[in-house]
Amino acid sequence: YTPPTPVNEPVKGYSKDSSERKELLATYNNMLNQTINVPMYIGDQLVETNNKVKMSPPHDHQHILGEFNMGTKQHVNDAIDAALAAREKWASLAWEQRAAIFLRAADLLAGPFRAKMNAATMLAQSKNVMQAEIDAACELIDFFRFNVAYMHQIYKDQPGSNPSMWNRLEYRPLEGFVFAISPFNFTSICANLCAAPAMMGNVVVWKPAESQVYSAKVIMELFKEAGLPDGVINMVTVDGPDAGDVVFKHPDFAALHFTGSTGVFQHLWKEIGTNLSTYKTYPRIVGETGGKDFIIAHKSANVADVATGISRGAFEFQGQKCSAASRAYIPSNKSEAILALVKEQVSSFKMGSPGDTSNFVNAVIDERAFDKIAGFIDYVKESKDATFLIGGGYDKSKGYFIEPTVIVTEDPKFKTMCEEIFGPVMTIYVYPENDYEKTLKLLDETSEYALTGAIFAVERYAIDTAFKMLENAAGNFYINDKPTGAVVGQQPFGGARKSGTNDKAGSYMNLLRFVSARTIKETF
Ligand code: GLU
Repeated sequence: YTPPTPVNEPVKGYSKDSSERKELLATYNNMLNQTINVPMYIGDQLVETNNKVKMSPPHDHQHILGEFNMGTKQHVNDAIDAALAAREKWASLAWEQRAAIFLRAADLLAGPFRAKMNAATMLAQSKNVMQAEIDAACELIDFFRFNVAYMHQIYKDQPGSNPSMWNRLEYRPLEGFVFAISPFNFTSICANLCAAPAMMGNVVVWKPAESQVYSAKVIMELFKEAGLPDGVINMVTVDGPDAGDVVFKHPDFAALHFTGSTGVFQHLWKEIGTNLSTYKTYPRIVGETGGKDFIIAHKSANVADVATGISRGAFEFQGQKCSAASRAYIPSNKSEAILALVKEQVSSFKMGSPGDTSNFVNAVIDERAFDKIAGFIDYVKESKDATFLIGGGYDKSKGYFIEPTVIVTEDPKFKTMCEEIFGPVMTIYVYPENDYEKTLKLLDETSEYALTGAIFAVERYAIDTAFKMLENAAGNFYINDKPTGAVVGQQPFGGARKSGTNDKAGSYMNLLRFVSARTIKETF
């Protein structure tokens, strides 16, 4: 059966006086003034513990949104048992039946769940309304709908046969359970880290980041409402090391689906390696990790395009996207004009709570992130090799607010040009306009990560040179556009080097990692 042809979910505008805006803000204020309790979801049980952890909005850390239940190793064990108990029935369901659940989830999210999912993401992850809409609504709807089309593409890919020989490929789910570890920064990614393997017939144990547990509850409610059977996706809120201790020693551990930091991913990979002889099968390891994403402008570039690429690419969602631009190389002939325009654009960004929709910049996720980012800013304040074009202020008295900060340096290997910051900090290096190729070489050499990057130029040879010289410096390469905002079905997302296994979220490549094909030859 051919599933419906997916189209990207249109982004709602939330303009003044629109009904969607009224509904969203009413939902937001309602949720703001209630407290919730987030249980763990283990099989058909909603599990609570005595170890309650409070949840607060990053932009108002004294306000309480509710609490979640911190679990133990026993809960992880229970979640694995529940997943394995659900496996046989789930895996033997026809793919169309599984697909239909996720198509229903997409429809529910496009309709009755939209305001709640967006409001949860605004409140607990401090996203502005449009950033929430493109993530928690549109991208997640797209993940569900496009992945169904990719499932079909995978299942129908069959080898050649002849009248007396029938060759088949059976795309079996993995033999065991999938462990999903998700980040705080994209609600859609969190849900997809679970949904993508589940679509392919797998059962999942999910450990969300503490700072995303609030919207994780809405995701679990959405799955339930869509008809996902109990036990297929189990959510546990436990400390990482406790979870790892149980999961990575379990013989049925079959895959890790991860988005998070490079350091944690490398640590887990090693742990998996150490326990290899324990497992029935080689686990699949799929991860999207860090980034130090770049923008390079050629002397032929359009000034306004470069400036907008820098200010939008660096500061949407406070730069807390793996794809966020965090270093830029601009040519001396246009540097003055580009810097002036960046300064003008960034100074127009209002900062504050997402409840006031005129705020473009909200708070960074938590105190740990705040302190780390502020540490980089302090380093710059004390350095002779860099100056602030704008920003440099921070204040955590009410919420974790860091001003969008643009640094200019004369040292292309300056600390903030090389290290991942994951916050609203952009560093710009002005290169002599005729040193374009030398700068490309330098850029590639300092690209320990290789997630996203953008080249701005009008001259085609300049674009082609960057395209070739930066071949391995970015998994998502943008020409005359900011390096963020990949759309499912249009720009499959992921990078290599220290940025991950480049299995491209929102594509058949990602889904293929969660099946183990059986080749069948039958002769007549
Ligand atoms: N897909 C997102 C983008 O293109 C980034 C995802 C991430 O931060 O992990 O902006």
